[in-house]
Amino acid sequence: MSDMPPPDPHSMLFGLSRRWRGTPLWVALVALVLAVLAVLLWMTWQHEQSQVQEATDAAAQTAAADMRQRLGDDMQALQRLMWQTAEGPGWHLQVEALLRTTPEIIRIERRDAHFAVIDAMRSPTYPQQFATIPRSAMSVDAEIACTTARRFSSPAFSRSYFLPSAGGLGVEVVDLCIPQPGEGRSDGTLVATVALPDLLHAAVAPEIVRRHEVMLVESDGTRLARTGARRGAGVFVADRLVDISGFTALLRLDSLSGVPPLIPNLSAALVVMLSAALGGVVVLLVYDVRRRAAAEQALAEALTFRKAMEDSLVTGLRARSADGRITYVNPAFCRMVGFSAEELLGTTVPPYWPPEMVELYARRQAERQAGDTPPREGHETLFMRRGGERFPVLIFEAPLVDARGRRSGWMSTVLDVSAQRRIEELSRQQQDKLQAAARLATMGEMATLLSHELNQPLAAIASYATGSLNLMPAGEQDPPADLETQLMIRQAVARIAEQAERAGRVIRSVHQFVRRRERLRENVRASELLEAVLPLVRLAARRSHTRIAVDVPEPPPRVSCDRTMVEQVLLNLARNGIQAMEDETVAAGDRELRLEVRAQSERWVELRIVDRGPGIPEPIARQLFTPFFTTKPEGMGIGLAMCRTVVEQHGGALDFEAGPDGRGTVFRFTLPAAAPATPPLPSSSSSSPTSPSLPPS
Ligand code: ADP
Repeated sequence: MSDMPPPDPHSMLFGLSRRWRGTPLWVALVALVLAVLAVLLWMTWQHEQSQVQEATDAAAQTAAADMRQRLGDDMQALQRLMWQTAEGPGWHLQVEALLRTTPEIIRIERRDAHFAVIDAMRSPTYPQQFATIPRSAMSVDAEIACTTARRFSSPAFSRSYFLPSAGGLGVEVVDLCIPQPGEGRSDGTLVATVALPDLLHAAVAPEIVRRHEVMLVESDGTRLARTGARRGAGVFVADRLVDISGFTALLRLDSLSGVPPLIPNLSAALVVMLSAALGGVVVLLVYDVRRRAAAEQALAEALTFRKAMEDSLVTGLRARSADGRITYVNPAFCRMVGFSAEELLGTTVPPYWPPEMVELYARRQAERQAGDTPPREGHETLFMRRGGERFPVLIFEAPLVDARGRRSGWMSTVLDVSAQRRIEELSRQQQDKLQAAARLATMGEMATLLSHELNQPLAAIASYATGSLNLMPAGEQDPPADLETQLMIRQAVARIAEQAERAGRVIRSVHQFVRRRERLRENVRASELLEAVLPLVRLAARRSHTRIAVDVPEPPPRVSCDRTMVEQVLLNLARNGIQAMEDETVAAGDRELRLEVRAQSERWVELRIVDRGPGIPEPIARQLFTPFFTTKPEGMGIGLAMCRTVVEQHGGALDFEAGPDGRGTVFRFTLPAAAPATPPLPSSSSSSPTSPSLPPS
């Protein structure tokens, strides 16, 4: 199974909604722009159309009026003609003139009361009229009109009819009948045949004809006549009724303009372009806003991550400006010192500085800030918790560099090392206890030897004292001792003093050994160290008849050490050597323990303890320095471990190798040589010289 936590639906939803936040708004905006654009275009288009339609309507209105006017004029001209005398050349001349000036009138007839044609004159433009069908065959419509005209004593038009001509052509015409006016005259009539195409041509203004196809249409849709060079587009059509004296027809204007294009003019094109630009800007805006939203989200996530990281840190973080004001602290730091961020921010003398240290810290801070780069290894100092408790901290500082690469302050990592220091102190106490236990163990072992050793000087003292007493006069009656006797007594007393001194030395050395050590280093001659332990070493060596040889160069080198501790190391190593030679495989004559001192270099002095025992086999050698490892039934196994600790505390090294001729073992360790003019140094591992190198085993 995967360790990944299941995605939180709420956060997913939240993330999604944030990602798409504002989208409907943008969609609405784009839709609105598009809708406005479409409506604008549609309205412009509609406007354009209505304008053309209105123009066509107006033209139709004008054309209809013109037509009515023309027909009216024609009727008046014919009526005037009617008033003229019918006979004589004058009438003919007038008819001729009328036919010439009114091209739409193609024939004028005079008829009698029975509608018989008395006289007729034709227009020169239509010479072939009534050639295919005689006028008498096509006179019915004229006669009906004349009947009507006579009845109402006013001009009347006939129905229109087709007047065929030669070659299959023809023309749609209408007859206009003018009744004879007045009393006392014959009921004759004047019939004028009007060619409708010519009527259109003559009546309708040329600028209207240029833009429209002009037609006369019957109410059933039959086209009677048309004029105009081109056909109409059939889109913008206007009809007007022309109804005059029985002539009823629709005047139809069909505009040559077709459907206007979607973008008909410059202003519409401008609107479109502006709208397109607006659309583009909106899209760019949307893109930009989305990008900003994404950047904002990334920033928010980075900030959340940074905050989570800072909050989860167990290390204290603190930032200070160039003038030493605290500008940032993380929660771990606040927890460490027990003050809230609000209490710390902006302070130059922070409340976690112990009052007694404020001056020192302020000076140190000023010095550190004046310097360029703080030390990488950090520094240890003392802070104070809210309750007043002092605690050690380790501070690592680094320059705080702003976006322009300038140093704007300092960033510090602060570690609370109080727990570490407590553990170190505990460990030191443990070490001390271990060493005390080791000393006590050694002492216990030696107690038996000590009693035996003290027996000898005490027995000697007792026998010297007895001898002296015997030599001294017993009472007043005894003669005083002679000079020789006095000398003997003096010698015996001197021996007593010597033996007492020896016993005292033995006791003192044990006392010194067992006494709790003082952790102080002193400059001491290496020979003095050996001399201090020699009585105890000899004591231990006596039982196994081991010889003790000491090899110290002249003048003996001086070492800087914790004397008591080093003596204990020497004693331990010597005791181990002696015990190794107690093995029955070692001949009594071979048992020799050598204590050697050598100046290894100017800075290091080496001490060697050489035995001629059976040596140390490999499996044992591997765990020699492991605490509580021992091969002896009564051993504790802490001697060597403790020896190494002590030597290393001095900055030296403890090691062992096989003896010079392959027999026995050489334990050797180094101690720092005492500097000739330097006073004794306080105990501190950091002040030790570099660890010396031991010659290869
Ligand atoms: P202990 O003497 O109480 O056993 P040490 O730590 O002094 O404890 O010694 C550990 C073991 O190292 C000894 O038990 C012994 O086996 C071995 N050892 C120490 N010194 C010598 C030596 N000089 N020769 C041979 N074996 C040694």
